[in-house]
Amino acid sequence: MANIILLGPPGAGKGTQARLLVEQRGMVQLSTGDMLRDAKASGSAMGRRVAEVMDRGQLVTDEIVIGLIEEKLSAGAGAGFIFDGFPRTLAQADALARLLERIGQRLSAVIEMRVDDAALLARITGRFTCGNCGEVYHDVTRPTAVPGKCDVCGATDLRRRADDTEESLKQRLMEYYKKTSPLIGYYYATGDLFSVDGLGAVEAVAAEISGVLDGEGD
Ligand code: ADP
Ligand code: AMP
Repeated sequence: MANIILLGPPGAGKGTQARLLVEQRGMVQLSTGDMLRDAKASGSAMGRRVAEVMDRGQLVTDEIVIGLIEEKLSAGAGAGFIFDGFPRTLAQADALARLLERIGQRLSAVIEMRVDDAALLARITGRFTCGNCGEVYHDVTRPTAVPGKCDVCGATDLRRRADDTEESLKQRLMEYYKKTSPLIGYYYATGDLFSVDGLGAVEAVAAEISGVLDGEGD
């Protein structure tokens, strides 16, 4: 069983690769971004509290996201967890280590996806997703076969994220470089870090990630 973190800036392709790993390996994707967007859409008290922070492109508090992850970890791991967009701070990384230890699990690998800022902007501003099944598309690199209709489930509820704007991306990148990129050094030091070139085609990146997982093989 493998528990992995996909680490990278907004738009690096973490969600796209996580969905492939779920499909191909039966792993469980834990995306704090998706959980927070669900909370926001449900109109819960927590959702209302995080909405503005997310739209501004800032990080929500460690306490909230650690609580979300803690809840999901107790539900069982399938063939392993894929942490997508979590941890994003050193405090979250410490909390994850504690939570995994508590359930008798450990990290297999932290996969850093490297993509330059110009490519991130093109990816973020072209992104849209299926509101029904969550499939991730792009206006240029991965359009739907039939305009307005999800290839996977046929739904017509295709959405763009409120924070997928050039202005918000600037803020999200600043948060990434200030608060999240120190995790690269941290996981290098723990010996868990693997870096892949996130600029290649989706299949090429997936092959690199598979290489890491099969090399780790636990
Ligand atoms: P993240 O979860 O890291 O924010 P996503 O997986 O949502 O990133 O990808 C962001 C956008 O880039 C989406 O529109 C997706 O279709 C596209 N994308 C993802 N991986 C690639 C790739 N390797 N090449 C080109 N476009 C990609
Ligand atoms: P994402 O879907 O990963 O791009 O996340 C979207 C937004 O949700 C981020 O810009 C943050 O506001 C918030 N968010 C998601 N994950 C975290 C996290 N681990 N820590 C803090 N904020 C988060």
